[in-house]
Amino acid sequence: MRSVDWKCLMSYQVKQKSFDRLLSSKFGHPSSVFCLRPSVYLLFLLLLKSALIIGISGQDGSYLAELLLKKGYQVWGTSRDAQGGSFTNLQKLNIKSEVNLISMDQEDFRSVLVGIKKTKPNEIYFLAGQSSVGLSFEQPAETIQSFTLGILNVLEAVKLENRDIKVYHAGSSEAFGDTQGLAADELTPFKPRSPYALAKASATWLVDNYREAYQLFACTGILFNHESPLRPERFVTQKVIQTAKRIAGGSSEKLELGRLDISRDWGWAPEYVEAMWLMLQQEQPEDLIIATGTSRKLEEFVAITFTQLGMNWRECVEQSEHLMRPTDLIVSKANPSKAFAKLGWKAEKTLEEIVTEMLS
Ligand code: NDP
Repeated sequence: MRSVDWKCLMSYQVKQKSFDRLLSSKFGHPSSVFCLRPSVYLLFLLLLKSALIIGISGQDGSYLAELLLKKGYQVWGTSRDAQGGSFTNLQKLNIKSEVNLISMDQEDFRSVLVGIKKTKPNEIYFLAGQSSVGLSFEQPAETIQSFTLGILNVLEAVKLENRDIKVYHAGSSEAFGDTQGLAADELTPFKPRSPYALAKASATWLVDNYREAYQLFACTGILFNHESPLRPERFVTQKVIQTAKRIAGGSSEKLELGRLDISRDWGWAPEYVEAMWLMLQQEQPEDLIIATGTSRKLEEFVAITFTQLGMNWRECVEQSEHLMRPTDLIVSKANPSKAFAKLGWKAEKTLEEIVTEMLS
């Protein structure tokens, strides 16, 4: 008697769950469709797309998982420790039970290859790594290895395992360095000024190189800052929001910040994951700038936050020398017109609306 292939059965059940979810959102009753046309149902089940999100526990990974589930994908996600992680972002979005979690060490080629063989994705989204610019000055080796070696392992595994898999890589505006107030576009050269920026620049070049040399469908979304309630507090926007809320609630603390005159192009994270998905649905892979096109000063972000809470920010903020970085970008500016032309994608939420969402 043939033994049951549990892995295959599990994968089938997961696909069925994703497909039922899709049918429910479209028609209301998945089972009635199944009763009418079982063969069509089974055919669609086989055609369901599967995505592997490397770094699903983070802000973007969680929103992307939510988006792909809504689109009917079978979603796999990696974490360095899938058994031990709490996946609070997936829990907040109420989708933890809908995704399939596996452990992966992206710096270990074997681990990446085994993960891809097991999950058999149509699309891979590479988001994982040490993502704080500030921390990258303290932990440069971890930052560079997690991004550069990580994407190299993914590209190499795709090249060896299945060249039809499409790869999205999360690049960063930090790679441009100081553009002297000019808006960066896809032709602006990289001049990285931090270990984080250097890691993102080299990872982007690796993606370009594998696309050109092996004709892989691989591309980088050069992402400018994007925020949401899922942003960890080590990032300045969430630090401002959480501290301001505590002060509004009666805390006597001060909000300690470095430079207030830095400008950033801040967008809304759930919109940015839509751009990631759109990039993999194109005919040809291409690197694109993903941004709002409007830069605002950190001082404005702080002022909007405190004003929305009915307070005067000047009475609550203290500037601190030790929060100044060894090298910091003063102005970060973007020209996202190509993303609009190619994807029809445009950032919609204003900074005021983003602050409101983060405060709520
Ligand atoms: P997060 O920091 O929220 O998530 C990144 C995930 O990577 C974590 O959840 C963690 O997962 C994993 N990770 C952290 N450190 C390491 C490490 N040393 N080695 C391997 N994995 C690690 O990032 P975001 O969701 O905000 O961003 C997603 C991607 O987009 C990142 O690559 C980021 O650099 C890039 N980006 C983000 C921008 C933004 O404004 N948010 C702007 C520009 C680029 P776990 O602990 O489960 O392993």
